[in-house]
Amino acid sequence: MQTVPAQTEHPLAADSTSHPKGLYLLFATEMWERFSYYGMRAVLVLFLTKAMMMDKAFASKFYGGYTSLVYLTPLIGGFIADRYWGNRRSILTGGLLMAFGQFTLFFSASNYGPASTHALSHWLLYLGLGVMIVGNGFFKPNISSMVGSLYSATDKRKDAAYTIFYMGINLGSFLGNTITSLIGDKEGHPEAFRWAFLACGIAMLLGTAVFNWGKDKYLHTPTGEQVGTTPAASGGIMGVYALLPVLLAIILGILWLDSAKFPTIAPLLGVAVIGISYMIFSDKSLSGADIKGIMVIFIVSFFVVFFWAAFEQAPASLTFFADEQMNRTIFGYELPASIFQNLNAIFVVVGAPLMAAVWTALGRRGAEPPSPLKMSIGLAMLAAGYLVMCFGVHNLQPGVKVSMFFLVALYFLHSVGELCLSPIGLSLVNKLAPAKFASLLMAVWFLANAAANYLAGYMSSLYPDPKSTKPAPVLLGFHITNLYDFFMVFVVSAGVAAGLLFLLSFKLKKMMNTPDAPVAVA
Ligand code: GLN
Repeated sequence: MQTVPAQTEHPLAADSTSHPKGLYLLFATEMWERFSYYGMRAVLVLFLTKAMMMDKAFASKFYGGYTSLVYLTPLIGGFIADRYWGNRRSILTGGLLMAFGQFTLFFSASNYGPASTHALSHWLLYLGLGVMIVGNGFFKPNISSMVGSLYSATDKRKDAAYTIFYMGINLGSFLGNTITSLIGDKEGHPEAFRWAFLACGIAMLLGTAVFNWGKDKYLHTPTGEQVGTTPAASGGIMGVYALLPVLLAIILGILWLDSAKFPTIAPLLGVAVIGISYMIFSDKSLSGADIKGIMVIFIVSFFVVFFWAAFEQAPASLTFFADEQMNRTIFGYELPASIFQNLNAIFVVVGAPLMAAVWTALGRRGAEPPSPLKMSIGLAMLAAGYLVMCFGVHNLQPGVKVSMFFLVALYFLHSVGELCLSPIGLSLVNKLAPAKFASLLMAVWFLANAAANYLAGYMSSLYPDPKSTKPAPVLLGFHITNLYDFFMVFVVSAGVAAGLLFLLSFKLKKMMNTPDAPVAVA
């Protein structure tokens, strides 16, 4: 009788709990990059309002335009990497561009002073942010997809790898935010913002250097093939470099037009959604199951817009609130307003392993919620965070400051919500996307972020400013006259989205032909 040899797993796969060293290289690189991104963002609106003397509404929209484009350029960066550059060249180029952008902001903020020098500061601000938008487009999609490339397609450690990576993101965010808040956000000293940008530039250089040092040694598949190198049939590497100034000019034009003239980004997002939908749904080779999976991705991406639009108030309206309406003194020391966003990173780093344990425990009992249900819980958490805030600001008398408890509670609930939605969503997209549209569907996820960030800027521009002489902002016929009204907008929008997604989640579960990952935390 013939014996069938037992199927052997690759020695690095399945049971092994250790991870390839390449993961830690990507962890360190992304940590420094997120230091730079979140560190800068933490003080951006304060820099805009206190040094650049923009009003809050303009600064909010400007912030929304910038962060929206940050999530739009990965579409281009992903395409160029697949065709011409490969992940490595894209990450190195993107990293250097982002460092250059931060140093440009440093010069912009150093030039801060008498009104006559502001024009140059303004142009340097646009240039710095524009270069960073382009750089991010090359960096972000490529570093995220490289994590998965270090493992075989069926390796069970992939979810855990993304969890570790997500912790790197938040560790970077924590370090960046802490440092830039402490050195850059100094009451009455708008000239100090430049140190925040300088620190972010140095962090970005460090991240790029670390990646360059370790890439050849550590970035390979389990079978030893190098990961992220230039595609074999690639011509036109140099041609892409020649096109970079054109891309930068387009981005700068859009950023300027959108902030100073008329809405440009919103129609651009619409065109991108229609274009991508056409590219995907006109493909005749997709099976019925593929199409159902893709529909699920589109539907959850739509709901995710309401999540991030409310969540990304952190560096905008919630920072205005912390700055002006909240008692920030603890043990006799007044904390900088920008440091409070940091609570999100702390809660995520601490909470990610706990959340993974919760899903695993539920999974063992066969009670793990399907991904869309988890995402609706995430949205509900977001609404709950704003509801707590509504209690804090209800009937608030002018001049009275609110306890920091409310903002701490909001960030706690929002972080739990983020862990229910963000990593789960990434994982869901990875699993449901047919291989040939993997990058494009990841782009749909990023597009949802882009739309959400744009909306976040718009919503933050409705922040009721007691000092403003303009009439109260109006949203869909609803007058926002005080902070209670303002935060209630998010309770309602996130709450309604949570309810609808909850109702839809049963249908969506049926549409997904891929079983949910047991411990998908990233
Ligand atoms: N905090 C995560 C990151 O920076 C996810 C942000 C998002 O998808 N909006 O990568």
